[in-house]
Amino acid sequence: MDDPLRLRLDGNALTANWRWLAMRSGPAACGAAVKADGYGLGARAVVRRLSLAGCRDFFVANWGEVAGISPIVPDSGVSVLHGIRPDDMPYALRTSARPVLNTPEQVVRWRLTQRPCDVMIDTGMNRLGLSVQDVADGVLDGLEIDTLMSHLACADEDSPMNAAQLAAFSAIKASARRRSLANSAGICLGNSYTFDLTRPGLALYGGIPRSEAVGHIKQVAFPEAQVVQVRCVRAGDSVGYGASFVAPSDTDVAILNIGYADGYLRGFAGAGTCGQGRFPVLGRVSMDLVAVDVSGSDVGEGDWVSVDYDLPAASAASGLSQYELLTGLGARYERRGF
Ligand SMILES: *Cc1c(COP(=O)(O)O)cnc(C)c1O
Repeated sequence: MDDPLRLRLDGNALTANWRWLAMRSGPAACGAAVKADGYGLGARAVVRRLSLAGCRDFFVANWGEVAGISPIVPDSGVSVLHGIRPDDMPYALRTSARPVLNTPEQVVRWRLTQRPCDVMIDTGMNRLGLSVQDVADGVLDGLEIDTLMSHLACADEDSPMNAAQLAAFSAIKASARRRSLANSAGICLGNSYTFDLTRPGLALYGGIPRSEAVGHIKQVAFPEAQVVQVRCVRAGDSVGYGASFVAPSDTDVAILNIGYADGYLRGFAGAGTCGQGRFPVLGRVSMDLVAVDVSGSDVGEGDWVSVDYDLPAASAASGLSQYELLTGLGARYERRGF
């Protein structure tokens, strides 16, 4: 049975985005952040496409995300960003995925296994990672480190913090097979930031992290909703919860099968559009439905309407970040195309 809500996925755009990021990564290998189910698009399908294109390094947040992609790629190419808890050990040892160790406790836990790992160093973001002082104190001694990494806090802005983090990361004395600093925005900062391996997420999926990516990164995810009902709303009558939209004149209204439970959050009320800008959203967004003005068109019950979801534009309209727009896409979409 066909679902009344689809996410059309452009696999060629995904691949083209990865190729552009790989090219911008210079001599560094280009990996892919596929945490949160491939930023909401479907991690398994993303990994399948990108590994065909030549991607060998994949990043997830938690161990529970490894099993979904390990039928597709060798898990020796998977890194788990949140490190290793005691409860993760039995599963972790059945795979060859690597934890990204973030704390001295995690280092102690993993050292006993004598297996390779990755290590995150905090260079100023104060989120995850060992301190520069931990490294100087010898916390990493005796570990077999595949990738030594850090994460940029402000790479999407022209902030002095970028150069400061780059300097702090470059100064770390630790032996590792590879070093990695740049996310999508970091890749745009240039090859002093790309080291041996890059870790883009957002830009793979059509997000524009910085102006350098405009014109190169293509939209990947296209929501499409079916029309459940079409009605004519008389001048002076209202539409939806709170009666917040009152028709100034007779208006043809289509009710689409998408709502805030599908990630189309209430920030789109009175701000979103569908059908390439032709159909403005009217009134509030409901959980499962949204009303759009289709006056002057021949849109009817059962037709499919594209929901405008160019990420920078949809972000400006809704007040949501490009990341939230992707990861908030719910489970009810039939994901097609990858
Ligand atoms: C999520 C994440 C990335 C990818 O970041 P984008 O901004 O989506 O490109 C890279 N590295 C780490 C450590 C992350 O948590």
